[in-house]
Amino acid sequence: MYSKSKSKIFATVKFRLTVMLTGLFSGLSLIVFLMVYLTLTSSLQQRIDTNLLDSTREFDALYRTHGVDALRAEFKRESEARGIERAFFLLASPSHEVLATSNLAAWGNLAVPLSMMSPDEKIGFRTMAVPGHRHKVRIALRKLDDGNTLDIGYSLQDNEMLMRRYRQTFTTAFGITLLCGSLIGWFVAKRAMSGVERVTQAATRIDRGNITQQLPMGHEGDEIDTLVTAFNNMLKRIQMLVTEVKEVTDNIAHDLRSPITRMRGIAETTLTGEQRLDDYQDMAAMVIEESDHLVAIINTMLEIARVDTAIEEFSKQPVDITEIVRSAGELFQPFAEDKGICLETDVPPEPLIVYGDGTRLQRVIANLLDNAIKYSSNGKVRLVAKGIPSKVLVSVIDSGIGISDKDLPHIFERFYRGDQSRSTLGNGLGLSLAHAYVHAHGGDISVESSLGTGSIFTVSLPHDRH
Ligand code: ADP
Repeated sequence: MYSKSKSKIFATVKFRLTVMLTGLFSGLSLIVFLMVYLTLTSSLQQRIDTNLLDSTREFDALYRTHGVDALRAEFKRESEARGIERAFFLLASPSHEVLATSNLAAWGNLAVPLSMMSPDEKIGFRTMAVPGHRHKVRIALRKLDDGNTLDIGYSLQDNEMLMRRYRQTFTTAFGITLLCGSLIGWFVAKRAMSGVERVTQAATRIDRGNITQQLPMGHEGDEIDTLVTAFNNMLKRIQMLVTEVKEVTDNIAHDLRSPITRMRGIAETTLTGEQRLDDYQDMAAMVIEESDHLVAIINTMLEIARVDTAIEEFSKQPVDITEIVRSAGELFQPFAEDKGICLETDVPPEPLIVYGDGTRLQRVIANLLDNAIKYSSNGKVRLVAKGIPSKVLVSVIDSGIGISDKDLPHIFERFYRGDQSRSTLGNGLGLSLAHAYVHAHGGDISVESSLGTGSIFTVSLPHDRH
């Protein structure tokens, strides 16, 4: 249990961000330390070398003007002034014979690297460890004009102590940086993840209850806002699906019940009647008719639900709308004539191409045309197709019974039937299906109508851009 929750913490983005930020802080401070360390070391060495160089110059001048005794006296004075354990001075002959020195008591068996000078070298610097000494020594060797060598050594004690103090200070500072780094890292990671946590908590709350809730926008930044928007869109879509399922269930409960009840009534009447063969045959024929009607309703309902919820993708391709309109006109001509209606088709000579499913678009036009003829007793029905920039428009214009203002806002709803049309055969699904198909093609369907004058249904579809 413990190890599981422990490994959970290690797996969190917050923990990883903290580690990354702490690593970054420590890495940066290490780089800064190294840079300062190197600069400090080299400038300290430069300073001591400059001192050594100045001293060799001064001793050289003194030796040249006042001779070896004056030099020896100056060696003594200078080494006492600096501290005999911190500096030594020495003059040696080319055969390494010591001609003059300061007090070397503190320098034990110091082996001055006279032989380390190459013959053509005038001045050289060396850093050496001295046996018995805790600190190293920096030595300057200067060849004098008479061939003798002047050796001056300064202990690096001060430099080494300074560097040690610097290292100690850095170690403490590094510890503090590490601590602050992890705290800041944790804080930053916590802040960065707070938006995600908020969304997660809200999602959990929604998961347990009401899906109509929407996540509020916060102030955590664009990425979280995008996440919230995506989440809310997803919720809206789920709501739509749930509503769709609910509507279909409601429709089944209300609108399929009456045909079934009707069938049951017929069967019951036949059974309780005189039980003649003719009655049974009539009953069978009616049941078949009602069943077909029911199957048609169920299929249309399922198709609308599938299209509305975009569960099924159409197989779209370029379709010439003028072709569809023309063949629909021809197909419906006999029905129009039967009702004494003059059906006119008006299409341009050039093709009007949309990207879509030909069969479904055919069904849209057919449903509109069927209604136009169904809801007119005589007069005229016009089927017009035209192209405008970026759109293809198809209008079905009739001079039929028209639609009342009360019915007009509802005619695209499933199973809605206008008051005037109750006596006409229909199931109230034709326009809903047409609406679903047109919207699935990225288009729109609109209606203008007034009672007694007629109606104009217009489908607009985007031009094919493929
Ligand atoms: P149905 O025609 O089966 O009733 P629809 O979905 O096709 O179902 O139409 C819904 C309603 O819209 C109809 O019942 C009718 O009241 C009205 N309607 C549709 N088209 C027309 C039209 N061309 N003229 C008058 N009313 C119409």
